[in-house]
Amino acid sequence: VEKLEEIGAIITNDHFVYTSGKHGSVYVRKDLLFAHPTLHYSFCEELSYLCKNLDFEVIIGPAIGGILISHLMGLVMLRSSVFAEKDGDELIFKRAYEKLIQNKKVLIVEDILNTGSSLKKLIRLVRSHNADIQGVGCFINRGNITAEFLEVPHLYSLAEIALDVYDTTTSDPSPLCAKNIPINTTFGHGQKYLENIRAK
Ligand SMILES: [Zn+2]
Repeated sequence: VEKLEEIGAIITNDHFVYTSGKHGSVYVRKDLLFAHPTLHYSFCEELSYLCKNLDFEVIIGPAIGGILISHLMGLVMLRSSVFAEKDGDELIFKRAYEKLIQNKKVLIVEDILNTGSSLKKLIRLVRSHNADIQGVGCFINRGNITAEFLEVPHLYSLAEIALDVYDTTTSDPSPLCAKNIPINTTFGHGQKYLENIRAK
């Protein structure tokens, strides 16, 4: 986490609107990690150390961030690596990658676990191709996601960041809104959120 803060990839004490529509004070610019390949590589080394006792043949990540992690993890752990791609709201395998995971033992990797809902989609997809998921590895677990919740045998993460996340559908406005903290329009979905409000 400190290393992410060093490169400015973690912004705190602000007011963000996330993809989910929820509000919160912390934002992780994971894209910035990909701009620092040596740091990204060292994260993959650390994560591979946590996953070293798992028995698997293929590493799978979800596009876009998961492509880079899956690829680097494959390099570190000397395994093959594939990725799933977005297709509307769902994830799919293209490039006949599904054939590379069929009846194989696999490891799923992800950069940041927020609600875990997108990873659950990937897990469903992977199981639909008869792959045996040995575990999930991620850099940051932001949502107290557990292996039980994902229904996988193991979940490893380099760091856990406790979050103050406010669901504006149940508590509108968020405490941050109530304090009149301006919504960040550079990162997250703040710009769209404000445009929608003005349009009402
Ligand atoms: Zn708010």
